[in-house]
Amino acid sequence: MPIAFADRLNNVETSAIRELFKLLGKPGIISFAGGFPDSAMFDVDGIREAANRALADEPGAALQYGATEGYQPLREQLAAFMAGKGAQAVAPDNLIVTTGSQQALDLLGKTLISPGDKVIVEGPTFLATIQCFRLYGAELISAPVDGDGVKTDELERLIAEHKPKFVYLIPTFGNPSGALLSAERRQAVLEMAVRHQTLIVEDDPYGDLYFGAAPPPSLLALSAGVPGSRELLVHCGSLSKVLSPGLRVGWLIAPAELLAKATMCKQFSDAHTSTFAQATAAQYLKAGRMPATLARVRQVYAERAQAMGDALRRELGDAIDFVPPQGGLFVWARLTGAGGKVADGNVFAKRAIEQGVAFVPGTPFYCAHPDHATLRLSFATADVDKIREGVVRLGQALAG
Ligand code: PMP
Repeated sequence: MPIAFADRLNNVETSAIRELFKLLGKPGIISFAGGFPDSAMFDVDGIREAANRALADEPGAALQYGATEGYQPLREQLAAFMAGKGAQAVAPDNLIVTTGSQQALDLLGKTLISPGDKVIVEGPTFLATIQCFRLYGAELISAPVDGDGVKTDELERLIAEHKPKFVYLIPTFGNPSGALLSAERRQAVLEMAVRHQTLIVEDDPYGDLYFGAAPPPSLLALSAGVPGSRELLVHCGSLSKVLSPGLRVGWLIAPAELLAKATMCKQFSDAHTSTFAQATAAQYLKAGRMPATLARVRQVYAERAQAMGDALRRELGDAIDFVPPQGGLFVWARLTGAGGKVADGNVFAKRAIEQGVAFVPGTPFYCAHPDHATLRLSFATADVDKIREGVVRLGQALAG
């Protein structure tokens, strides 16, 4: 008998990226496709020490059921971590610990989206956000992005026209765009939030991964300077890209009323995030290892980003256009079609696989009006030599 699935599943399809990942098992493939950090960079010793200390100091708490809001010592450490990044006004009670920031996005979908509600996202944006919000029946509206992040004039026009339930942005080294929202545009976003009384969700898993100067402070931190904006801001954080995605530790900062509803929904979903993971993360942060870890990952990713940018210029020349990323894990690029070369990301991705290199074409990252010439290249998991070799193969795929 066919299984009668819920109607909400009609709004989503299996991710195109997952289909592509099936091909990555081919031997010898160099992958620029994943959204993963490099597992070779995990601070295994530090995490082992933190886990041991969690079990030695607080075995009851680390292995028992815990509060849905999160393990209090971790909430305190995360509030201090946010304060260190300029968001001084965050108290431990202003955040809940989530099972990755992915769960924070799911809780926002659950608490805020009724079928048919409008939500504005960037075009392009994080694929799992598109899928997650669609599962709750959202009608997604795409706001255009350039090298400085979302175009705020366009965004304001869309807010005025559609009166969305909320706006979802990845202002700092977005996935997939890698774009950094400029300081002026951050100010503009906060002001328009107040002007239109629109909730803004800031997803920020990459903000700590900057290569040169620190990026402008988060929207959350800047909201202190724009009266009335703090109560319209939701912020999602994560330890995944800087420490370990396997810990599944993220957090959600939101106005009290929304945080209470999200906590209620989390209770019915997973009761709480793994207490062992939370106690380990709390011990890790308490031990003061994060600054050195951040310095190390920033340096390695900066070298890889530079190597990829240089190699792309050398091997693909004017057939590709991109803004060198100032942080994050991705180069977002556009095929120009120069010299009659292939200008479609999907066609190029298939040819690239044949040459032994994988990346993700850009189209799945758009909720509407995809730009078929785009692609996302991750420089995170291949070392510099592999990156150079992979880009040579890209050049061959483009020529072939
Ligand atoms: N938001 C964005 C923009 C991401 O790129 C990711 C991970 N790829 C997530 C959220 C979810 O990360 P996690 O659940 O591991 O915190």
